Amino acid sequence: MSGYVLKVPSQLAAKIQAHGMETYPHECCGAILGRDVDGRREVLGLLALANRRDDSPRNRFEVTPGDVQLAEKTAAEKKLELIGWYHSHPDASARPSEFDREHAWPWYSYIIVSVQSGMPREMSSWRLQDDRAAYDPEVIESPAQSPRI
Ligand SMILES: [Zn+2]
Repeated sequence: MSGYVLKVPSQLAAKIQAHGMETYPHECCGAILGRDVDGRREVLGLLALANRRDDSPRNRFEVTPGDVQLAEKTAAEKKLELIGWYHSHPDASARPSEFDREHAWPWYSYIIVSVQSGMPREMSSWRLQDDRAAYDPEVIESPAQSPRI
């Protein structure tokens, strides 16, 4: 067990799913903003990005240097950290592809949502090992918002 845990509030998980439905049958992608205190990582905001891979938008998620700059700037403005990236897998499982692994960096959290026939299915999160050989799974905890009466 890797022991990684990522807290994703349910309304932000729903936002990732909605983005995946919106761009289906193409991939959606975005930055994950939040905090990482003593290894306790929490998602507190999202930044939707355009998938610029026009050649194969169904299965090619790639973050550009411009995306990193924009995401870091946005995180700083909100007094948060850039803690990872999310994208969707249209009509595929929520496991990272070989392409994903080759284009990922260690430390970040990578959330993947599977979108089957336009409907969001499972969501998973991953961290690339330091030697970049493989991913470790990260457990997603989705505390529900306390109801407002
Ligand atoms: Zn992928």
